[in-house]
Amino acid sequence: ADRLAGKSALISGGASGLGEAQAILYAREGAAVLIGDVQAEKGHAVVAAIESEGGKAAFIHLDVSDAGNWDAAVADAVARFGKLTTLVNNAGIFHPGGITQETRQGWDRMIAINQTAVFLGMKAAAPALLASGNASIVNISSLYGLIGSPNAISYHASKAAVRVMGKAGALEFAKQGIRVNTIFPGQIKTPILGEITPEQDAAIKASIPMGIVGDPMDIAYASLYLASDEAKYVSGAELWVDGAWYA
Ligand code: NAD
Repeated sequence: ADRLAGKSALISGGASGLGEAQAILYAREGAAVLIGDVQAEKGHAVVAAIESEGGKAAFIHLDVSDAGNWDAAVADAVARFGKLTTLVNNAGIFHPGGITQETRQGWDRMIAINQTAVFLGMKAAAPALLASGNASIVNISSLYGLIGSPNAISYHASKAAVRVMGKAGALEFAKQGIRVNTIFPGQIKTPILGEITPEQDAAIKASIPMGIVGDPMDIAYASLYLASDEAKYVSGAELWVDGAWYA
């Protein structure tokens, strides 16, 4: 239970789904965790769950599309934990819509939260991460950042951008002690998809070679590895966790 001993992590979107799973697992492995999210009640519940296991965690309001919120979250992590070693850009939204259906407003919101926010987060955290001397960033893209589908144009665009920002960031910081890696979840059971019909559920499962959707912990274990010193030579990597969907 010490694979992240001495680490201090800021996890965006840590109040739900994949972010919650990562927050819980990071804390179990010894990291101090600051959850940044727009859902305060759920975020505080995750903090309480971590504390009940003896872990160290706190919550801060963070709208990832707001640069000032990012500066405040990074400052809070450093003030609370003495340093920031790890940034997880996990917060994200999804809505369907192909080229004909998506609106300019929907596009702008998707790009702000899923794409621009990843830049803002890395930019705000970089000085503290550099100061820590041994840092890493884990960005959560999506299988939809690697492949297309007919009905999610803005989501595809935003997640593809996250992919290439991870490569660019890995190169920018390669000699400076910040590793940058990207996870591409396939279909994982979280609230992000909203209500889906049994027919949609069956169609999703039929499209996955393993025939099952993933569990949030499947992503958390991948993230744990990338954030740990076990991955000290791993940067610019792309890890898809998807039941062989992309194979
Ligand atoms: P989720 O809806 O359970 O969690 C997303 C979290 O992000 C929520 O807590 C939400 O409050 C937060 N959030 C939304 N907008 C925010 C904002 N502006 N500022 C701060 N926080 C905000 O969904 P999830 O499935 O856990 O998604 C986590 C990440 O994984 C997302 O980036 C998503 O695109 C990605 N992803 C998920 C799947 C999947 O199948 N679940 C697949 C591929 C990628």
